[in-house]
Amino acid sequence: MFPSIKNFVCSAIVATATVVAQSSVASILMTPTSAPDLVYDTPILNHTYSDNVTRPEDVLGFEVGQRVATPAQISELLSRWSTESARLQIVEYARTHEGRPLFSVFISTPENLAELEQIKAKIGRLTDARVVKEPEAKAIIDELPAIAWMAYSIHGNETSGADSAIASIYHLIASTEPSVTDMLKNMVVIIDPMMNPDGRARFAKSLEQYRGTAPNVDDQSLLHTGDWPYGRTNHYFFDLNRDFYFLTQPETRGRVAMINSWRPQLMIDGHEMDSQDTFLMGPPRQPLNTNIDTDLQRWGRVFSEEQGAAFDARGWRYYTGEWFENLYPGYSNYAEYRGSVHILYEQSRMAEDGVRRPEGTVQTYQESVHHQFESTMVNLQTLAKHSKAMYRDYWDGRKYNVAKNSPFADRSYVVLANENQGRMNALAEILQAQGIELFTNPDAIKVGATTLQSGEQLKSFEVPAGSMIIPNRQPEAPLIAAIMEFDASISDAVLTEEREKVLREGASIMYDTTAWNLTMMYGLPAVTVSTELSQQLTPWRAPSVTVALDADANAWWVNGIDDRSVAFAARLLEQDIQVRVIDRATEFSGRALPRGSVFVTAMDNQNRTDLPAKITEQASLLNLDVGSTQSGYGPGDLPDWGGEHFRLLTKPQIAILSQAGFSSYDVGVSWWSIAQFLGIRHSQLDAGYINRADLRRYNTIVAPNGYRDLGAAEMNALREWVKQGGTLIAHDGSAATLATEGGIGTVRGIQDSLEKAQEYDLALQRQRLSQTVNIDTSAVNARTVNAELSYPWDPELELPSKEELKKRDEWQRLFMPSGAIVAGRTDTKHWLTFGTEETLPLLYGKQPVLMTNGAAEAVVRVGTFTPNDAVEAKRILNWSTLPEGEDLQVRMSGLLWPEAASRIANSAYLTRERLGNGQVILFSGQPNFRGGARGTLRLWLNALIYGPGLGAEPSIDL
Ligand SMILES: [Zn+2]
Repeated sequence: MFPSIKNFVCSAIVATATVVAQSSVASILMTPTSAPDLVYDTPILNHTYSDNVTRPEDVLGFEVGQRVATPAQISELLSRWSTESARLQIVEYARTHEGRPLFSVFISTPENLAELEQIKAKIGRLTDARVVKEPEAKAIIDELPAIAWMAYSIHGNETSGADSAIASIYHLIASTEPSVTDMLKNMVVIIDPMMNPDGRARFAKSLEQYRGTAPNVDDQSLLHTGDWPYGRTNHYFFDLNRDFYFLTQPETRGRVAMINSWRPQLMIDGHEMDSQDTFLMGPPRQPLNTNIDTDLQRWGRVFSEEQGAAFDARGWRYYTGEWFENLYPGYSNYAEYRGSVHILYEQSRMAEDGVRRPEGTVQTYQESVHHQFESTMVNLQTLAKHSKAMYRDYWDGRKYNVAKNSPFADRSYVVLANENQGRMNALAEILQAQGIELFTNPDAIKVGATTLQSGEQLKSFEVPAGSMIIPNRQPEAPLIAAIMEFDASISDAVLTEEREKVLREGASIMYDTTAWNLTMMYGLPAVTVSTELSQQLTPWRAPSVTVALDADANAWWVNGIDDRSVAFAARLLEQDIQVRVIDRATEFSGRALPRGSVFVTAMDNQNRTDLPAKITEQASLLNLDVGSTQSGYGPGDLPDWGGEHFRLLTKPQIAILSQAGFSSYDVGVSWWSIAQFLGIRHSQLDAGYINRADLRRYNTIVAPNGYRDLGAAEMNALREWVKQGGTLIAHDGSAATLATEGGIGTVRGIQDSLEKAQEYDLALQRQRLSQTVNIDTSAVNARTVNAELSYPWDPELELPSKEELKKRDEWQRLFMPSGAIVAGRTDTKHWLTFGTEETLPLLYGKQPVLMTNGAAEAVVRVGTFTPNDAVEAKRILNWSTLPEGEDLQVRMSGLLWPEAASRIANSAYLTRERLGNGQVILFSGQPNFRGGARGTLRLWLNALIYGPGLGAEPSIDL
């Protein structure tokens, strides 16, 4: 379960390497050929089993835990067992991108298995205390068996969990011992044996490839680490354990539907962690998300005490808490917010050879598997003991969620009506997948106290018609609160501990991002209303679109606010259709065309008789409404179709730089966005090869977050390619590399720009003034010279010295966030901001703080201005001047220390610079983070698809 927002895949491995190098490298090197003692009991050795069920080793060819079973072997075992045992039923709940099946293995008595649908229906009844009354609930609780969901190896290279699942399934279906047969009379165990078969297959393959003649117990070796992109993630390199409410991947979508319909009382998630670590079990330490039912925390301790006792009995080392906090709700722990006890297992990670430890011993892989197996069995026994009491607490929780006096009762979340239907549909889909009830208001509603995303509180507010309304008081109230509240509460004690850690060690106690609000991640304006909205509402329904094209029109267009318009343009361009985009809003035949609208004319495509058919095909696939027009006349001063605002696009030919040195997450999510969101082609290039590759094949190159510098030859190749007309888009660490002396373009990191702070401030002021022009006609028309002109700076105020600025910057850098959401102010006239609001929430971590002196455009800057008459004079904030009469807001959500807010204020999040015939576009962060950052994703889509046409010189084929 390695961290984190920076997504350095191998950070934990690197950290381990350091420990080993200091302590035990000598002992490893001195014993390279002596085979370590690998004899260890297989977990299922000392039990008695029915002869009618095939033993795992008969299919695997080795004892459970001796080797890593491949996904194919696990599938084969399951299919064999399904014909041999009446104690299991197998459901395939999804297929991976690579076509591998994902299974829920239901294990219970044949009698219970015959009743599964009825049991599920009863569980469903027990969830909604608005319709079920006390006597029925009591009766259901009396009848229901315990339900456990035991899931393993969501990170494919954390293999021991899935191997233990083989042992557990066999044990539960073949054991003749009463400890099992009695337990199953009152329990349905659902095992999800391998949550990420594509990642596991990748790691299993690397085990084959790196195997030599002798066992290898060095956890630094490739046998143990695997190689880029590692087995942790799925096909598109997504961390599936960060996908539980973004729901971008088929594995998660199928799994969540299954978990949500079964509402397990206990949910286990079996992982592995650092190779030299021991074993971590629940419960987590602070910070805990305040929306988690405290009963669940109490039960968590009950499970943990019995698990600890079982480990003590065998002399196994373990711990609880420590690094495992529980603030972020997007892991498998999302089920906790729906009423399940959630327990994490973290076993030290190793290949099947085992790992030499500093004390000289070797921990075998079989022991790892045994830890997971034992934990599974003891947790099931605890559940068997306490199931009824847990159901009673669950029911109390369900009543509380819909009670009139709970904190959920006087709160509604509202996503304001907007034209980005594609994004609204996507949001509705993932909320409904969690069983969250959505409504809309056919008419505007006047409401009282309302909080904006900025945190500003209004006494009254009008909710526009067509908004998405989510009253918090409904059965899934805690999950709704956790993902929709603007700012998760963090206690003073946690803040104190965190501050101490930052100051003492320059480190953080936060394991993941501290901000994740769904509407902010989606870049959709939303408010929280301090009442329960329930009147004048109808259920939310995604509008269904019938594409009815006027085939005789002169031109066709789709609304540019909708994100799907970019995919529409991309797919038509890929089929060599000429496409334009409108960079200033206009109106045709009485219909408004917002800027960014995609416009296809018959004139541009004179040889394409299939044009209406192609447009219809893509619009239908994307569920997009298409407007038609006979006339290209924009009334009044509005743009007409022959003018400069109807800009011809260039077919994008995209490459992503890839392989070692780049974050596999960021490579993967870029790949996924192109393949799945846009649905067009691209190439991934080995970055080590770019100075020899023929880059002329591409007009757009993406440099995902990288953590090694490009060599001079590679940098030169890219620079020359840009000058010839290429669009280079870089994220995070790669943006930092380009923004240095010897990089590409004039953007610099803040630490390198403080020598000339005044220049950067002037560029900032000039941009700000250009966006707030307020003409005093009489002053302009005056015939006498004005000796008292005002300037964007205050001559009385001086910026601090460069020494002071550098000192401050280094201090403030200590406090950079592990993940917070900050307010971005967008240049609303720039083509990169099509489909984007004036204020765009930005997920901000330990990323480069970009500065431009005006040579590069700052398309999005950090911080938004709000009027404040009390501010009478200009003020200096580090390198920049703040205007009078206004406050600058930076923090929107999560933990952002004032030092960090001050450091990043006014810096650029997104820059764009012309270089020769091409351009460089830098994102300070990762715009497609986890596939869930839909707001910043749009900026990236614009860059990728519109960049070659709008920002670079088109090449003309003669
Ligand atoms: Zn993990």
